[in-house]
Amino acid sequence: MAGQINAFEMAQKQFDGVAKQLKLDPGVAEILRWPVREFSFRIPVRMEDGSLKVFQGFRVQHNDARGPNKGGIRFHAAETMDTVRALATWMTWKCAVADIPLGGGKGGIIVDPSTLTLNEKESLCRGWVRAMWKNIGPRNDVPAPDVGTTPQMMGWMMDEYSRLVGQYTPGVFTGKPIGGGGSLGRTEATGFGVMYTVREAMNHLKMNPTDCSVSIQGFGNVAQYAAIAFVEQLGGSVACVSCYDRHSKKAYTYGKKGGIDPRFLLSIVDQYGTIDKQKAQDSGYDVEDADAWLAKDVDVLLPAALEGQITADTVKQLSNRVKIVSEGANGPTTPEADEVFKKNNIFVIPDFLCNAGGVTTSYFEQVQNDMNFYWSKEEVLERLDQKMTSAFNAVVDRSEKEKVYMRDAAYMVAIDRVVTAMELRGWLTGDA
Ligand code: NAD
Repeated sequence: MAGQINAFEMAQKQFDGVAKQLKLDPGVAEILRWPVREFSFRIPVRMEDGSLKVFQGFRVQHNDARGPNKGGIRFHAAETMDTVRALATWMTWKCAVADIPLGGGKGGIIVDPSTLTLNEKESLCRGWVRAMWKNIGPRNDVPAPDVGTTPQMMGWMMDEYSRLVGQYTPGVFTGKPIGGGGSLGRTEATGFGVMYTVREAMNHLKMNPTDCSVSIQGFGNVAQYAAIAFVEQLGGSVACVSCYDRHSKKAYTYGKKGGIDPRFLLSIVDQYGTIDKQKAQDSGYDVEDADAWLAKDVDVLLPAALEGQITADTVKQLSNRVKIVSEGANGPTTPEADEVFKKNNIFVIPDFLCNAGGVTTSYFEQVQNDMNFYWSKEEVLERLDQKMTSAFNAVVDRSEKEKVYMRDAAYMVAIDRVVTAMELRGWLTGDA
């Protein structure tokens, strides 16, 4: 969490605004502004030095009217129940806007994973599953990786669940490693998906990607593949990326005249998304402070790190040239900064539309697990492109029809779909 911003208050505020515009029944709105179920638990782990350490774990299930709850597990030192609630809520809207038959969930553990050894990480992953296994499963709640968690961790978690239930159950976790039940294309999915929506937005705004540049916050999974797609698929240039340096405990912005080389930076970044500063400097990269990415003279701004980064305060640093803000991260823009975007006519691709590529491919992974038949990478990415493009079009159409801001339009599409599912299941009549 950045500063004092409470992500769940932000998620509720966004929802309340649209619920009002939609004239949603107040009782229905009350169901949707809170998660249906929340779990908070303690996980003891025997550390390698012999001590016993207890970690705080969470899982929140927001709404499963359209299908099993779905959403990542985040390992982060600043994790809170409210962050998990917000992320679970956004997952409901994300699955609905992407039109995949899943609901919204999210989980986490308060921990900096880089402080753990491999064995401690595995014990913590297995401990999370032992606390939650009765309340997750392919038909009720399917977790996946998020910040601080990896495919290998999903492999351990799936294994622990399979042992507990006594049968191989690959569909209980997604984002698993290839060869361990994972889907080809999952690693690239979120970042590529971000760029499918940017491509569509540029088409819509009649911008030529080859004349455009993007500035990116973050250089983890989402940012890495978004940067690669922008350069290699759309022919644009990436002015800079920023990342948190876990050694000096500070964030930096890495830029290069003429654009960064994402494949080179990928070769010098660690698994936590920290770029090797020395190697970058030796290769001619300029290293600037944390916020420098915000002020670059670019066409597209892509926050792909954490929530609450573009605020009433930081939004003042944006260059007048910025036309598109594509939200790779969840909740990067505060409602106050949204007002500035509206005023300045900046085209926003809202988070739960923009970064829906990850969960869409997770859904494909589950489908493949269920069929026990696996698709090629090309097949996965082609289906992903179709899903992202039609989700983008549904939101743009709504935005134009109702003359509303893109974020509000995305909420309208998602809320309508979830409310319809609740109605069709009889949740809003009789013994709801
Ligand atoms: P990650 O852990 O792989 O990478 C996070 C990156 O952000 C790292 O490079 C880290 O150094 C950087 N970072 C952290 N704090 C920073 C700061 N203050 N300034 C600059 N950089 C900072 O995470 P990820 O999987 O790439 O996820 C990034 C965002 O995208 C999160 O909001 C996540 O919830 C969201 N998201 C991820 C996926 C997915 O499939 N990975 C899907 C949907 C949404």
